[in-house]
Amino acid sequence: MLSYRHAFHAGNHADVLKHLVLIQCLDYLTRKDTPLRYIDTHAGAGMYSLTAPQAQKTGEASEGVARLQAQPGTHPLVKQYLGLIKQANEGAAGNLYPGSPWIASQCLRAQDKLVLTELHSKDHEALEALFRRQKPVKVARQNGLERLISELPAPERRAFVLIDPSYEVKAEYEEVATAVKLAMKRMSTAVIAVWFPVVQRERVRKLERQLTGLAEMQVFELGIAPDSREHGMTASGLMVLNPPWGLDTVMEEVMPDLMTALQVPSDGFFRIRRHPVKGTPGKGAVGRG
Ligand code: SAM
Repeated sequence: MLSYRHAFHAGNHADVLKHLVLIQCLDYLTRKDTPLRYIDTHAGAGMYSLTAPQAQKTGEASEGVARLQAQPGTHPLVKQYLGLIKQANEGAAGNLYPGSPWIASQCLRAQDKLVLTELHSKDHEALEALFRRQKPVKVARQNGLERLISELPAPERRAFVLIDPSYEVKAEYEEVATAVKLAMKRMSTAVIAVWFPVVQRERVRKLERQLTGLAEMQVFELGIAPDSREHGMTASGLMVLNPPWGLDTVMEEVMPDLMTALQVPSDGFFRIRRHPVKGTPGKGAVGRG
């Protein structure tokens, strides 16, 4: 049974980092006219109300996106992200937070295709309603990792994949590693972004080792507290295989301001790790903490 609901966490610090990386990737990939396939394996509901009881109960958005809105700075990527949130709220009271499928749909063009999978019946229903009349969008209630494999190689010959599980079940780490390996075998040029929470550091290390060497990879991580055995999620990040050109440079520019805006405590950190060439160990870590 699926108990995770993203409505409790929408707009938190993990969403902020994830959606910034997503926008930057799609911004680069849509500079070429040729069509792109966007595959969101764990799509969620697509749009969230920050005044809904779930969001109000945790208050996570108030320590995430709301802090960035209060101190946006001047970086174009942050401006674009906050602009999209504004756009999502047109005609609404200003308290909607868009999920990855909606953000992606705004970054993509008429020639691109979106494949969105979501297993939870309620979130799937909401997602389907959000995209009902949009032709190049396929919404399915299906296991996203299985669907991913069947979608590759993409007929468009260009693909971006977001894998954003809740990791409710520990086996998901292994399932993600297996799916990414298989996906890369079927389409070695696919850009794949894998989201991860830092709850137990060893699980993240293992996943990173498993993905290293499949392709060039960059890892972006933001920690609001040092690793701990006692707390829940202390940090989160993305491992991006075949990262679009310049992604690391842009994130290097954005991360320090993001830390300030999100009021990350002094024992928090950000890290960027690069695994540049197939088969070489990671190097070039940048970060605070
Ligand atoms: N990507 C979304 C965003 O950024 O707005 C958030 C997704 S949320 C972290 C993870 C979602 O995956 C949940 O809505 C959950 O119901 C769904 N889910 C869990 N296991 C799944 C699976 N095997 N296939 C597809 N969806 C799944």
